Amino acid sequence: MADFEQDLQKYRRQMDAGFKNLSFPPDMEAEYTSQYLERNIAKQRTALWVAAVLMLLLIPFDFSVLSGKPQEFYSLLRIAIMLPLLVVSYVCTYIPIFQRHFQTLAFGMVLFTGLSTNLCVAYANKLGQHLPYEGLILVIFVGFLLAGMGFRLSLACACLLFLSYCLLATLYMPQHPLLMHELIFIFGSCLVGGAAAYTLEFQSRLGFLQKGALRSAAKIDPLTNLLNRGAINHQLEIIIDHAFREQKFITMVLLDVDYFKRYNDTYGHVQGDTCLIEVAKALSKGCRRSLDFAGRYGGEEFILVWFDTKPEEMARLSYLISNNIQQLNILHEKSKVSEYVTLSGGMATGIPSETLTSSVFIQKSDDILYESKNSGRNRILCYTFPAKEFTS
Ligand code: GH3
Ligand code: MG
Ligand code: MG
Repeated sequence: MADFEQDLQKYRRQMDAGFKNLSFPPDMEAEYTSQYLERNIAKQRTALWVAAVLMLLLIPFDFSVLSGKPQEFYSLLRIAIMLPLLVVSYVCTYIPIFQRHFQTLAFGMVLFTGLSTNLCVAYANKLGQHLPYEGLILVIFVGFLLAGMGFRLSLACACLLFLSYCLLATLYMPQHPLLMHELIFIFGSCLVGGAAAYTLEFQSRLGFLQKGALRSAAKIDPLTNLLNRGAINHQLEIIIDHAFREQKFITMVLLDVDYFKRYNDTYGHVQGDTCLIEVAKALSKGCRRSLDFAGRYGGEEFILVWFDTKPEEMARLSYLISNNIQQLNILHEKSKVSEYVTLSGGMATGIPSETLTSSVFIQKSDDILYESKNSGRNRILCYTFPAKEFTS
């Protein structure tokens, strides 16, 4: 099977293999990350808005319970540093160079917001003023669910915040009977938030694979696993474009199973399907390079296309196809040309140009296929487009 077709099926293979550790092989991981970059940046902007609104809401209330040095410390951290930092981060989400590092940015922002909350709470408590610790729980949940970080990074961030609170509580806060409750609530929010973040990322990765598999299913013929008509047209345009720009030859062959109606009538439709599957496998063996492809053009008609082949290679390619089919030895007693299943084909080669388009290639291959049928079947006739046709 050509690389292109394998590529189409990679999503299904990954789904079968699973991804419990929330990671894909490097190529797919890069594709996943880039697809979700935009969505995660939108999430990050929401997180920054939420943080700013909550902070502005809390400032007057926090001010009402603080006084003296804790109030000065709070003003410095929250108003002079945090709020401007939120604005700067928001602007950064629109700058491409920062967008590429949005996970690091999110990690830094959540960690800094949480640490500043912990410091304000610890300092106020040390000086006998009470500032509630629950703000940290909000920060932890924003980190898990809104900041656009992956599960691992958000878990690391939450753990660091939990540990920092434990440390500050032990070193600076006066012991009080509800301290253990506080620590258990913060630890609990790490657990609950972590479980939610894991599920979210798992679902997001599953959705990515399902979408990829759906795209691939829409391109692959379910019976033969070759490209279907739509994908053939798409891939053909890509090859023609390439060959036109690089002035390379492409070779196309249209193939049709001989007396296939008789085959179905003799052996039944199910056996006919099996025969088509075997023929498709044998044909795809001939397309090994990444741009080459094999497709099911219609019922018992197939197409093969090779990129960068010389006209003199047509004989070798025809032989390769005939040989692969012959080796199948599929009995066809009612065929008038052989006791085994055979194919007729029309092969055309040329360098694509403004006038030598994909439809000209297909039309020519079809005309020659017709000639092959009329001249006795079980053969592939070849045609080279003359130079003037593809230089005019
Ligand atoms: P020729 O040598 O001229 O090509 O003769 P033929 O009998 O192969 O040509 P014809 O076009 O008359 O018949 C093609 C047959 O292919 C008819 C159709 O039932 C069968 N066919 C098309 N698609 C499928 C399929 O998916 N499965 C099976 N089993 N048969 C199919
Ligand atoms: Mg036919
Ligand atoms: Mg036929």
